[in-house]
Amino acid sequence: MTGQTAQSPAESLADGGISMPPSIPAVMPTYNRADVAFARGEGAWLDAVDGRRFLDFGAGIAVNLLGHAHPRLVAALKAQGERLWHVSNLYTIPEQERLAEALVDATFADTVFFTNSGTEAAELGIKIARKFGGADRPRCIAFEGAFHGRSTGAIAAAGAQKLTEGYGTLMPGFEQLPFGDMAAFEAAMGDDVAGVFVEPIQGEGGIRTLPEGALRDMRALCDRHGALLVLDEVQCGMGRTGTLFQHEREGITPDVMLVAKGIGGGFPLGAVLATEAAAAPMTAGTHGSTYGGNPLACAVGLAVMETVATEPFLAEVRAKAGFLQQRLGALAAAHADAIEEVRGVGLMLGLRLREGWEPGALANAAREAGLLVVPAADRTLRILPALTIAEEELSEGVSRLDTALHALKAQTGAA
Ligand code: PLP
Repeated sequence: MTGQTAQSPAESLADGGISMPPSIPAVMPTYNRADVAFARGEGAWLDAVDGRRFLDFGAGIAVNLLGHAHPRLVAALKAQGERLWHVSNLYTIPEQERLAEALVDATFADTVFFTNSGTEAAELGIKIARKFGGADRPRCIAFEGAFHGRSTGAIAAAGAQKLTEGYGTLMPGFEQLPFGDMAAFEAAMGDDVAGVFVEPIQGEGGIRTLPEGALRDMRALCDRHGALLVLDEVQCGMGRTGTLFQHEREGITPDVMLVAKGIGGGFPLGAVLATEAAAAPMTAGTHGSTYGGNPLACAVGLAVMETVATEPFLAEVRAKAGFLQQRLGALAAAHADAIEEVRGVGLMLGLRLREGWEPGALANAAREAGLLVVPAADRTLRILPALTIAEEELSEGVSRLDTALHALKAQTGAA
């Protein structure tokens, strides 16, 4: 609510006769939103309410793993929706048990806690590390450029000023090291470290992949010092990189892993996967969630797992990724004045732009050309299509990126 004179929130609430219309939108304006709203989606395509059609290379920021309105997910949601929506974690939830068993069967994990989001998964990861560490291990290590969510714990972990500013004293214990700097990591590790939190590929940070061997070295150093290795695979996991989880490529396993986004295919769902030893302190009453692992979410999650966690599906992701990477390489060569590098693994790719080029401006130009992509930090434009996208659609998307680059150059006079 605004007044003619400056009023404190308490005064403006107390003045009773509310006359001025509020100047704040009904939806709290915490996002910079593009001027487009969607009415429906199918596969890799989205139809806007105003009739425009978009090819989706963002997939809700790596969420719509199987595209929009995938028949198998729609069927799972409908069937569960007609049976049972919600009961509470006071009771046994068979759908939750089935999904937990599927995750345990497919990974290093012995046990799973379900959440509704990546942030909540990160929050539990932090709690596990702190409980495991106790008074003897007050430190946790994370990395510059990281993103683990927006809760007070997750922003303390990531540490970046743009996330933490204005929120007062942060949870103590976290320190951030340069991403991929293994000398700094080895120097910082000690027997007082409870947990090491790392994204094998930073998403928000700009599709930055840990150097080869780094995860293996982190595993070894965590073992040497008795610390938990907590991998955040919220964005890079669930088949996006062509293996079910990115850490599999390094032949290591974490103690704890955070999963969300793709696991629900668009239904809010997250999970913390852990070994029995790491989860040992998490006994009855130590953590909980009203909705986490509810029947609807788990029915959809199970359909996602049954689709994605198969070798033929993952082999197809790798083949499509090779095709897209080759096309993007050609695009980068044709626009070497704007694109510095194609980076990433599988279908988690980024175009790192040259200095002076803004990923946000390129994302806007791409949208004008009918393509949705996602800007990230480190001058990088993210390309995160549904894993089910067809090769012709990948070609079409790259051609729209080419159109967008030409349009942007014409606008900025860089052509
Ligand atoms: N961790 C990573 C690596 C992420 O990319 C994100 C979201 O972008 C999160 C955690 C937070 O997930 P959510 O937005 O579902 O809370």
